[in-house]
Formats: sequence, C-alpha cells, structure tokens
Amino acid sequence: MTVHGGLLRMDTPGNGHIVDITEGVASVVRTAGADRGLATVFARGSTVAVTTMEYEPGGIHDFQALLDRLIPSSGEYEHNLRNHDTNAHAHLRAAVIGPSETVPFIDGQLVLGTWQQLVLIDFDDRPRTRTVTVQIVS
Ligand code: ZN
Repeated sequence: MTVHGGLLRMDTPGNGHIVDITEGVASVVRTAGADRGLATVFARGSTVAVTTMEYEPGGIHDFQALLDRLIPSSGEYEHNLRNHDTNAHAHLRAAVIGPSETVPFIDGQLVLGTWQQLVLIDFDDRPRTRTVTVQIVS
C-alpha cells in the first residue's frame, strides 16, 4: 500500500458558502500517478463539511435553503449561550453532513457521476481559510 498526500487551501466567506473542490482532488490523484485506489478528502474544522452534490446554482440554492429550514441560524442554542458564541448552527450543520468523503479512482480518474461534484461547505458565520487534506491510497 502506498499513500500520497496533497493539501487544498481556500478562503471562503462562510455562511454556507459552497466550493467545488473536484478539480483540486483530481489534481492530487493525477500527481500521485496511481492507477487505482481511494482518495480520502477531509476538511479540518468543526464548522466545515465535505459532501457530493450537483454543483449548479439551483442545487446550491436548494441545499442552502434546506439547511436553513433544518438547522436555523437563530435560536436558543446551548453552545452560543454557554460560550458567548454565535455559530452553534454551523457546528450542527457540519456534524450532520460530516467532514469527509472517500472516492475511488480507476485509471487515474475519480469515479464520480457526471452531475456529482465534490464540494466543501463552510458553515461558519465569518470568513475563514480552509484546509482540505487529500490522501491517495493505492
Ligand atoms: Zn462555536
């Protein structure tokens, strides 16, 4: 087993901003030069998530609206009350979606659907610099 690694770094405005990281992950896979294996993608932080979706304006809008309905940004959250914080909703949204995905690759290509992109979603209520660790296992 061989492990190659790569880091993706990006600035986001937060507040549910969604970044398409598919090409960044594919680039790490290409650099690894492996034929087949797994790419694990992990976002560091408790207010950020990684998932897959169709990355287009309608899908982005609907996904953000869904999360606003499920986990509203305002409310009596214990995290905010106890820590004089404002981003309890961001922690909850990140925990529900999760910080990572694992995508197989074959012939050096990620096995993703045509309308399936890997995305990072930054839920924090302020701009952040985010780091995504990509590890290639082959
Ligand atoms: Zn917090």
